Amino acid sequence: MKKKICLLHTGGTIGMIRSSQGYLPKEHYLETVLNTIEDLKNEAMPDFDFFEMSPLLDSSDMAFEDWNRIGYELSLRYNDYDGFVVLHGTDTMAYTASALSFMLEGLNKPVILTGSQIPLCEVRSDGRDNLVTSLLIAQDAKYPEVCLYFGGRLLRGNRATKMSADGLLAFDSPNCPHLAEAGIEIRYLPAPKTPKAERDFKLCPLENVPIGVLKVFPGISFPIFDKLMTEKLRGIVLETFGAGNIPNEGNALLPIIKRAFEAGSVICVSSQCPQGTVSLGAYKTSSPLKEAGAVSAFDMTTEACVAKLYYLFSKGYNKEEIKHLMEENLRGELTH
Ligand code: ASP
Repeated sequence: MKKKICLLHTGGTIGMIRSSQGYLPKEHYLETVLNTIEDLKNEAMPDFDFFEMSPLLDSSDMAFEDWNRIGYELSLRYNDYDGFVVLHGTDTMAYTASALSFMLEGLNKPVILTGSQIPLCEVRSDGRDNLVTSLLIAQDAKYPEVCLYFGGRLLRGNRATKMSADGLLAFDSPNCPHLAEAGIEIRYLPAPKTPKAERDFKLCPLENVPIGVLKVFPGISFPIFDKLMTEKLRGIVLETFGAGNIPNEGNALLPIIKRAFEAGSVICVSSQCPQGTVSLGAYKTSSPLKEAGAVSAFDMTTEACVAKLYYLFSKGYNKEEIKHLMEENLRGELTH
């Protein structure tokens, strides 16, 4: 029997049309385009049903409420389909993939996010292959988790990051091997296992948690940090140099971090390097961060750190539990 896939359209370039202000999403348009693609009716393809969200969004306009809406649409149909393909804009696709990987608890079916850099309405669109291959990957169900497929690469969703603003190989997962590569054939590759929680499928919606991402740079003016890092921010992702280092000169940042921590914020130290891991304490410039109560993001992407903070706060854990879980591998989002 043929597998049945749910194809959920959330917006993004793949289904956009040209306008005088540039590309924008158009309601009830993509389905008519898909009906003209003969390959989608090929014997090898799974059966699929198309659903369109309203409003369709440029993914730059998405926020946690939209992750909740997508999660809700998927959970509503979870029992009726063998797998899911989510059409999404590329700009924040890695954030949504990370968020869904946490929110879809006990997930045991493939959820493949994809989109395109060039709309389907243009001759050189990369959308056709991304869509066709994603449907085939959802049908194969080799990885029953949240994945991102783009430009021939199947990536673990919470490891993916957008690497190129205009290239067709727009995504990669520098700290996790590709799950598959689609050349002449779709070649599935061995990947680190995700911890399997033996639970029934359940959606955990996210709450409005004030989270900040602060990028350290040479010569940063610390008084500005002081104004931002108040108890109003419950989670702070601190993007540091290399393996977790911050400028120690003048000792200006640490008291601010300590104060934020004592006020109840969870401070997660990530690296500005796309590849490699944070190692707090490896240098004198990073050990005080640990003493100030910060936790390590290890090799998590910023996208995964943000989504994980939203998730853990929404679950109602206390600060100590969140600190502990930020450093644990929950869905394959970090290596250790
Ligand atoms: N701005 C678009 C979006 O993220 C870009 C894209 O889809 O490639 O929705």
